[in-house]
Amino acid sequence: MRIVSLAGGIGGARFLRGLLAATPDAEITVIGNTGDDITLFGLRVCPDLDTIMYTLGGGIDENQGWGRADETHIVKEELAAYGMEPQWFGLGDRDFATHIVRTQMLNAGYSLTQVTEALCARWQPGVRLLPMSDDRAETHVVVEDEHGRRAIHFQEWWVRLRASVPARDIALVGAAEAKPAPGVLEAIHSADVVILPPSNPVVSIGTILQIQGIRQALETKVVVGVSPIIGNAPVRGMADACLTAIGVPTTAQAVLELYGAPLVDGWLVAEEDGDVSLDGVEVRARPLLMSDPEATAALARAALDLAGEISR
Ligand code: GDP
Ligand code: CA
Repeated sequence: MRIVSLAGGIGGARFLRGLLAATPDAEITVIGNTGDDITLFGLRVCPDLDTIMYTLGGGIDENQGWGRADETHIVKEELAAYGMEPQWFGLGDRDFATHIVRTQMLNAGYSLTQVTEALCARWQPGVRLLPMSDDRAETHVVVEDEHGRRAIHFQEWWVRLRASVPARDIALVGAAEAKPAPGVLEAIHSADVVILPPSNPVVSIGTILQIQGIRQALETKVVVGVSPIIGNAPVRGMADACLTAIGVPTTAQAVLELYGAPLVDGWLVAEEDGDVSLDGVEVRARPLLMSDPEATAALARAALDLAGEISR
């Protein structure tokens, strides 16, 4: 079976670990969000691709959900001692090495797709990990504070401000010019099933869907999504602040409507959201908490079962 899954960072990576456990023989291609990418200290950082790579490759800090296990922060401390900004983005020493390799390869002329493949040669994530695009397209957030109305990089809003300043809008700068990375549309066309894991619907899945041709390609496929919202709240993180910014209520129903019926064929919600419905979509209530590997694998299996039911 050929499976394509879109993915953001932590929610996507955890789901994918369950998917791998549920279908060890499937050929899985992951289309990763690169809208969170940022250049820091001259280094190209791709937080969501790295979270997937480290999680599936066994190098993740399990408690934090991102970054490397057994991490130290000497380089960060030394940069701060020189007064280097930004100091609000946590880059560990082990993690720095990844960004140095990536930046060196990009500067030598390799594409992000090629760099990601090279990094994955070490981590062996068990999936084919593709960036959504080789072109630079970064999420920016329009905020209004004492400095007036301005757009800041998504990471500044998310990490430095902890989404505490209300976002007036969220936009993927460069979306109009960005093309899907090589292999992305081909993987979708040859997929038997497409999964939307419970990643952030605005700045993870929503970002990938903005890259030209991806939504249209997905509309021809059996697509099953897992709601990241349970009982009117994100399971973790601040996805509610992102949804509010684009005028969408924080409910499993509204996220389903945001993705829309021609795109999504099946939608998994939590038991308490069992009244969710949309014409053309099969909705099922299932345990949605990825509390341990078994529960996560069961969730992945539920998504595949629903896809199978829809295909028949
Ligand atoms: P990020 O890029 O690291 O923010 O991660 P993602 O975009 O991949 O996923 C973030 C989303 O995962 C959040 O909106 C959470 O609500 C959702 N999430 C996290 N844990 C769970 C879980 O156990 N179950 C479900 N259904 N959603 C989850
Ligand atoms: Ca992310």
